[in-house]
Amino acid sequence: MWLGNRCQPPKDVEGALDALFGQPVGHVQVIQYSIYVRWHMRAIATTRPSRIYLRGSGKEFFADAPLLLHEYFHVLRQWATGDLTIPKYLAECFRRGYWDNRYEIEARDFTSREIYRYRSLLAQHRNEALPPGVHPIRRKTAVGS
Ligand SMILES: [Zn+2]
Repeated sequence: MWLGNRCQPPKDVEGALDALFGQPVGHVQVIQYSIYVRWHMRAIATTRPSRIYLRGSGKEFFADAPLLLHEYFHVLRQWATGDLTIPKYLAECFRRGYWDNRYEIEARDFTSREIYRYRSLLAQHRNEALPPGVHPIRRKTAVGS
């Protein structure tokens, strides 16, 4: 196995991802501090079927909504459907480079389309995770009540 260790998303993050993708995401393995990613120059994360390898910590990754959506999109909507394979990815990169290959374009499009929905789902799941009778503190606005 690749060096690095497996980590779990916080409950609220997992709940928000399940809702956003419309399927359970718990089977996706997230490997933090992966040596594997260091072989990919400059990459902070890389994906394989049902796997996300991180250069850094899972804690940072699960707090980084745009990166999170981008990587889960690669896994759930590209690898899992058979659309993304290593030969196809390399062929795309060879023709168009990293930034302009269609897998990256699709992942960026998805992230920019869904980021607000994700944030609101996350807020909902965060509230649900509170013990009964505990309510989140709302900041008062300067004007009005
Ligand atoms: Zn990507």
